[in-house]
Amino acid sequence: MRICGLEEKIHVVDNDVTVKEIIRDIVRSKEKADAFYIFDIGDLVNKVKIWKEQMPRVKPFYAVKCNDNLLLLETLAALGLCFDCASKVEIKKVMDLGVDPSRIIFANPIKMVSHIKYAMSQCVNLTTFDNELELYKIKSIHPSCKLVIRIRCDASSSLLSLGVKFGCDPYTEAPALLSLARDLDLSVVGVSFHVGSGCTEPTAFRRAISASASIFRLAEQLGFSNMYVLNIGGGFLGNKNSSLEQFSDIVNDALNEWFPPSSGVTIIAEPGRYFAETAFTLATKIYSIKNRPNEEHIMYFINEGFYGSFRGPILEQSTLVPPKPLFENSASPVVKSSLWGPTGGALDIIVDSINLPRMHMGDWITFENLGAYTIPVACTFNGFPLSKIFAVVNRRIWHKLKNLMPISEEHFTTEPIVATIKRARAESSDDVLWDDTDIEHTIQYPCLHLKKVFTSLEI
Ligand SMILES: *Cc1c(COP(=O)(O)O)cnc(C)c1O
Repeated sequence: MRICGLEEKIHVVDNDVTVKEIIRDIVRSKEKADAFYIFDIGDLVNKVKIWKEQMPRVKPFYAVKCNDNLLLLETLAALGLCFDCASKVEIKKVMDLGVDPSRIIFANPIKMVSHIKYAMSQCVNLTTFDNELELYKIKSIHPSCKLVIRIRCDASSSLLSLGVKFGCDPYTEAPALLSLARDLDLSVVGVSFHVGSGCTEPTAFRRAISASASIFRLAEQLGFSNMYVLNIGGGFLGNKNSSLEQFSDIVNDALNEWFPPSSGVTIIAEPGRYFAETAFTLATKIYSIKNRPNEEHIMYFINEGFYGSFRGPILEQSTLVPPKPLFENSASPVVKSSLWGPTGGALDIIVDSINLPRMHMGDWITFENLGAYTIPVACTFNGFPLSKIFAVVNRRIWHKLKNLMPISEEHFTTEPIVATIKRARAESSDDVLWDDTDIEHTIQYPCLHLKKVFTSLEI
């Protein structure tokens, strides 16, 4: 069992306390100056509950690449989820939690030889493929592995299409690939697809499930007698403005039509974003401000940026939930604003035009919905650190979770987060709180300051 550091424990909070209140408490204490995340375990637990209620036939294999935070993986493992791993390291990470290899699909269709060898050594026995060369690789390294053919079926709109990179054409390519698999005496057991991450055309699932049914028939005609897996991939929206229902109604209907319970086919999915997105909220601090010349436009510099948490959401051009000042002041005038990250990189802009109440040095801004494709993608470019993550859970969910392996009583602390932060600092050598906004006088009028310099130059 893993021994958690103090800051890595899950902090137990009262049942009715909100994430915003937790962030406000931390900020008011003045114990934290860097940007930080609050990870609400309860939100994750609730997502799993909704999934099980709305798509009881579809077994979720969480896509680890979306967010590989250890507590998140542990919570999902505790709730009995299975996992979609794309590499050796992801397989190891999940197996180190005590997850049985039968609960893993190695769902990267294009694999490195060493990773296939590793999967075989760990008895991971289910993988996807979409081309000939990969079939030969599997034949030579892990010939008894069960295979799922990945077909291409893209939604007409999604945040990120995966079809250009992965998936074979169900009509022009799949037949030849299946014949080759049969000639190589490999064991094809099912079909998979991914309609695109952040799918905004849920009926794509209907098209893809119908196409999968044709491939099932074709495979059976070719002699594959053990076709028992349909993998409907990921793509499910997870943010607070979307609901799983818009997908589940379509998916359940299509499954009943083409893969009814009497077919005996096991239905699995690989949701990433759906589970992880809403559970993480980021709190950032303004550490510098300037006016854009000749324009009523204020540029705020905050201590997190493109190279930290925002690269994924910005590149996906997803609808970043609008930033919110932590302490709203309705008396503040609303001004056109932009938000910039701390690095010297020109790309390091988070929002280039938004109306926000006038804010000041040291004010905090929060971003919700930042749990998907943020944390594992972040880097320390230009020397700016990654944001710490504080996990919280309310008492009710704590009682449910605390003895579900791999989660144990040891994972939790009832100490307030502020006390933990203080203590962690005292226990490390870094005893000083470096606050980048802590100056005595905020310079209100930079031009006055400049004038003084010119005067002294003239002398
Ligand atoms: C990334 C990925 C997923 C997860 O997709 P989401 O859109 O986050 O649900 C699932 N399956 C595969 C094969 C992936 O590459």
